[in-house]
Amino acid sequence: MSRKVIIAGNWKMNKTAAEGKALVEALKPLVADVCPDVADIVVCPPFTTLAAVVEAAKGSNIKVGAQNVHWAASGAFTGEISAAMLKEAGVEYVIIGHSERRQYFGETDATVNQRLKAALAAGLKPIVCVGELLEEREGGRTEQVLAAQLTGGLAGLTPEEMTRVVIAYEPVWAIGTGKTATPEMAELTHNFIRCTLNDLFGKEVGEGVRIQYGGSMKAENAGELVAQRNIDGGLIGGAALKADSFAALIHNAIAK
Ligand code: PEP
Repeated sequence: MSRKVIIAGNWKMNKTAAEGKALVEALKPLVADVCPDVADIVVCPPFTTLAAVVEAAKGSNIKVGAQNVHWAASGAFTGEISAAMLKEAGVEYVIIGHSERRQYFGETDATVNQRLKAALAAGLKPIVCVGELLEEREGGRTEQVLAAQLTGGLAGLTPEEMTRVVIAYEPVWAIGTGKTATPEMAELTHNFIRCTLNDLFGKEVGEGVRIQYGGSMKAENAGELVAQRNIDGGLIGGAALKADSFAALIHNAIAK
C-alpha cells in the first residue's frame, strides 16, 4: 500500500510570531515544487505563533499543527488550549504525547488517550508520539514499551478514527542528541508498530496508518530513513527551525 509522506516540523518553544512568519515566508518558495499528492508538509509552532503562521501559510502547500491540546471543551484548566480553540485558529494537525510532554509535564498514555479523543472529535488530525527511553532499549524492553503506549494511547478508538491518526515513533535517546536510529533499526521498530496497529484495528486500517520517524532526522539521513517500507515521513525538531535545512530534508525524504 502506498502511503503519502508526511514531514512535520516541531518548533517546540522556539519562534515568536514575527520569527515564525519569516520562517514560513522563507520556506514557501523552497518547497513550492512539492506536490501535495506526494507529501504533506506541516509546521507546528508554539500557541502564540499559530495565528501568524496560519496567515503566512495561506494558499501554500504548508499545513499548520499545534504541539498539544486539552481534552476538555472549556473550563478551569489554566495554561491549556482546547481543540475548538485550535480549530478556530485554523490549525489542522496536533502533536499529542511528545516525549518532552511525558518527561517534563507528566503526560501519560491515559492523558494522551483523552487528548486524542478530543482532537478527533473536533476534526483535528492528531500526530501521536511513542518511543522508548535508552534504558528501555538497552534492557530489551522496546517492544513492550511501545505496545503499552499504543494500546493505552489509542484505547477505544474506532478503526475509522484510527485512519485519521498519524503515529510518530521517536526513540527518546535520539531526540536532540544527534544520535539517529539506523534506517534498519528504525524499520524493524516501525514494522513492530505496524503489526501492533494491524492487531488492534485490522490489517486494512493498520497498513494505511502513516508512521513518522523522529530523532535527529536531517537532510543527510532523511532519504535513507523514508526509503524504508514502514517509515512514512518524519517529525523533525532542530532541522525544522531553518527554512533551508527543512526544505533540503523534505526534498531528500521524497527523492526516489
Ligand atoms: C522531536 O523533538 O520531535 C525531534 C525529533 O527533535 P530532533 O529532530 O531535534 O531530534
